[in-house]
Amino acid sequence: MMKHKQILLFAMLVLFAAVFLYGFHIAAEHKVNVWVHDMEVKSAVTKADMVAEFLDELGVELTPENLSPIIAKVGDSPDFRITVLDLTGAVLADSWLSAGEVKALKNYATRPEVSQANLHEPGVAFHFSETVGNELMYVTHRYQRDHFAGYIRIATPASIGTKKIAVLSQQMLPLVFIIFLVFLGVNYYIFRYMKREKNMIEEQKSTLERLDRQSKDSKLIQKFSQALTTCESREELVDIISNMGSHLFGEGTFGALAVSPPSLDAIEVIATWGDRWQGDVRFAPKDCWGFRRGGVHLSHNSGMEINCSHLEVAQGDAVQCVLLQAQGVSLGALHIGGSEETFDSGSFQNKIYSVTEHLCLTISNLNLRVKLEQQAIRDPLTALYNRRYLDDSFARELKRAERKNSSLAVIMIDIDHFKVFNDTYGHDAGDHVIKKFAGLLSKTVREEDISCRYGGEEFTLVLNEIDTAVTVKRAEALLEATRALELQLNNQSLGQITVSLGIAMYPQHGSTQQELIKAADQALYVAKESGRNQLKVAEGGDLTSPKIIFSKKAA
Ligand code: GH3
Ligand code: MG
Ligand code: MG
Repeated sequence: MMKHKQILLFAMLVLFAAVFLYGFHIAAEHKVNVWVHDMEVKSAVTKADMVAEFLDELGVELTPENLSPIIAKVGDSPDFRITVLDLTGAVLADSWLSAGEVKALKNYATRPEVSQANLHEPGVAFHFSETVGNELMYVTHRYQRDHFAGYIRIATPASIGTKKIAVLSQQMLPLVFIIFLVFLGVNYYIFRYMKREKNMIEEQKSTLERLDRQSKDSKLIQKFSQALTTCESREELVDIISNMGSHLFGEGTFGALAVSPPSLDAIEVIATWGDRWQGDVRFAPKDCWGFRRGGVHLSHNSGMEINCSHLEVAQGDAVQCVLLQAQGVSLGALHIGGSEETFDSGSFQNKIYSVTEHLCLTISNLNLRVKLEQQAIRDPLTALYNRRYLDDSFARELKRAERKNSSLAVIMIDIDHFKVFNDTYGHDAGDHVIKKFAGLLSKTVREEDISCRYGGEEFTLVLNEIDTAVTVKRAEALLEATRALELQLNNQSLGQITVSLGIAMYPQHGSTQQELIKAADQALYVAKESGRNQLKVAEGGDLTSPKIIFSKKAA
């Protein structure tokens, strides 16, 4: 398309040059014509001047008889004709005529070349000479000398001037042709130069645009990386991806960040950006080709490619799934969507690479942080909260109960005769039982409650927004469930265990952690004293429920 335009432009230039040179040729020819004419007139006037000078110095009477032979000699040439006239216009001599012929001529006063001539300007006319039978140019000049007063007329055949013009015109043609060629050459050179300049400018422009885009991209990546560096939780990571996704990958893009929870086999989408992301919130690794290939996969609608089944791609769009992994461990995947051509750009792929690199590091750090936090607050054997966590969260739970004006239960639990159990079945069996019982506790409490390994074979439950009656009911259920625990290790039955429970209620039995734990501990002591395998509610306090059960021993 561009080439056609250039050819057309070049053809127009050539046409313009041809028209211009043709015009130039005509103008030049005209100019030459005028110039040749002037030259001939001047040459004729010079001749006339010489004849006038000659006649002035001749010193004979100026009659046709005297003059004719002299003028015939002076003007003995086929190229010009001299005619001498007196001031009345009567012909005195003519170089091409005899005296007799001269006498027979009419008066020339009315001839245009004679009537126009004066002392300063020559008269010029062209007409057919019947005397010589030829077209002549007549140049006449008037003289007023001491011994000669009259007109000298010089006639030249018109063909001589025309011939000269034709010769000059012919000489000009190669010149015009050379000018035309030079014009074409210069044009071609200018054309090439302009094209090269244009290409250079376009190249510079695109380089500048690329550099500008790269600088913007690297600033964005830097900003993204800074945000990730200060990111302390998964919630913050979600905010960063949701807010920065469109800025990072450009307007019109969309996508999602999915992470692999360590305990689940399913990948979970935790953050999205753009309004065109369509995909499952949870999906199995086998549904994503990014995971299956252990790297990158592009899903789109236009080819033979296999698409990931956990997402939908609209016509003309594509979605690239990039597996996020660190040290061989899958952390999740980043899914980037946009128009198909977006993914052809090398700089876009570089951007994806940089973003995923930063994401891998951040997710891996966050996972490590969560792991360390869990290790700090969880008991390694049972995965229940440890005493440190209980100490940290007890005050918070109490404040909440105070604020909501609700009650709270603290249950201290101790496995009965565990020393004997250990002695009978061994320490490993003891550990196994502690783990089994911890599992039972986890199932018993609600998510908002705290179940904690207080130490050894002792456990603490903190139950929110619960009254004494419900607490007792749940404690009874726990007693029952413990008794029913099937304990086995290496296909060997470990018998049964029982537990004793001491219950203290906020605000009836205390308003601080120490007071409540102490009250529950005392109730537990009473339960132990009363024969174990039972629960006791702390004594004292203003217990409002009419159905308070202070103790319960298994049948
Ligand atoms: P009581 O009914 O009065 O509570 O009797 P008990 O034997 O359970 O109480 P005691 O305090 O005398 O003994 C507690 C035992 O629990 C001693 C210890 O060996 C055992 N124990 C504490 N922590 C663990 C543990 O992590 N694993 C195992 N296997 N045993 C533990
Ligand atoms: Mg104990
Ligand atoms: Mg015990």
